[in-house]
Amino acid sequence: MYADPILRLIQELTKLPGIGEKTAERLVFHLLTQPKEDGLRLSEAIRDLKEKVRSCGTCYNITEADLCEICANAQRDHALVCVVEQSKDLWAIEKSGAYRGVYHVLHGHLSPLDGVGPENLTIGRLVERIRKGGIREVILATNPTAEGDATAFYLQKTLGAVGARVTRIARGLPAGSSFEYASRTIVSDALLGRREF
Ligand SMILES: [Zn+2]
Repeated sequence: MYADPILRLIQELTKLPGIGEKTAERLVFHLLTQPKEDGLRLSEAIRDLKEKVRSCGTCYNITEADLCEICANAQRDHALVCVVEQSKDLWAIEKSGAYRGVYHVLHGHLSPLDGVGPENLTIGRLVERIRKGGIREVILATNPTAEGDATAFYLQKTLGAVGARVTRIARGLPAGSSFEYASRTIVSDALLGRREF
């Protein structure tokens, strides 16, 4: 049987998506052959990720500061808010270069079967942002999945009730897909073709 530290790291690695026991073993034995500093740099990078990265105080994007670089940028259009499920969706939209507004990251989607309700997302904070005023349009860019659509529908009702102009991105993305995997052209077309409900 493996020594305890080896076993522990294998167990931790297999908790990551896409890593089975065989891959975890290969990674651990690779690390054993590497210089000590390399392994420690990896553990330090993971520590920094968990200790220094947090949510932006305004939009809930991941950041190292109180405000993310997008919220802190005066050149952006702060009256235009694009709502996404995850920070990775935000970065996919940023990469398209087609958007100059700001964002709101929900950190998930409504999923009653998994026990995820509106109170588990950052919806309350989004309502507060709108109530404060100064927001011209809210673009719902949740993913074109059943949960993403249900979340958009809920947001449209909730945000509409507080007086926001709410639009939904065009159906450019293939159904069931996510921004993460969409090309730049598809993302920018989806944004440009947005419609009011
Ligand atoms: Zn932000």
